[in-house]
Amino acid sequence: MSDDWVTEDRGAPPSEYQPGAEIEEYLDAMRLRDPGWELGPFLREAQGVFEDVTANWSKLDADASRPWMLDELWDAHREGIDAMRNDDMRPVVEHLAVLDARITGAWLEDGWDCILVRFTARSTDYKVNRMGLKVGDHKEKTWLEEWTFGKEESDLTPASVPPGAPCPNCGGPGDGGVRCRYCGQLRTDGRGFRDVWKAASIEELQDR
Ligand SMILES: [Zn+2]
Repeated sequence: MSDDWVTEDRGAPPSEYQPGAEIEEYLDAMRLRDPGWELGPFLREAQGVFEDVTANWSKLDADASRPWMLDELWDAHREGIDAMRNDDMRPVVEHLAVLDARITGAWLEDGWDCILVRFTARSTDYKVNRMGLKVGDHKEKTWLEEWTFGKEESDLTPASVPPGAPCPNCGGPGDGGVRCRYCGQLRTDGRGFRDVWKAASIEELQDR
């Protein structure tokens, strides 16, 4: 496995990170018991959760994100949304672009495989008050968040069906893509990625 997805330059805060070799060792061991796990699809799907939760945040919609989060994270997320609502504020995150997504940690915790993903994103992030006035700087900014994704150790990441096999969801012809071009679903057997991997924590590393 190449090193380019486990950064050596980990930037400033937080100061304590797992060495890249330790992360790779954990992921290698995990793959032996969870052969459906692959780096590329994992990062793509994790990024999809990140984008959808961020879009829901901008709509002050906590419920829409609930299925993808563990309870503790969702409670905190909902509280943040409630606080915004109580202040008659609405966050506006526009032109969201994920510039980078990479793994910065992997470990076992309370019987869960945990993978830390650092997202570097760019967007606006101002607020609109009850009068409809923009509050704060509305230029686009680059910001960083680290999200922990967890799955139960005994659970299995849904495996991609082989290139050429029909779509397990709609039966459409296979073209080897990660997502079916007909129904838009992941071309995986059994449950979806989001049924298995849940967002467990979100930490802002650099303010928007
Ligand atoms: Zn399909």
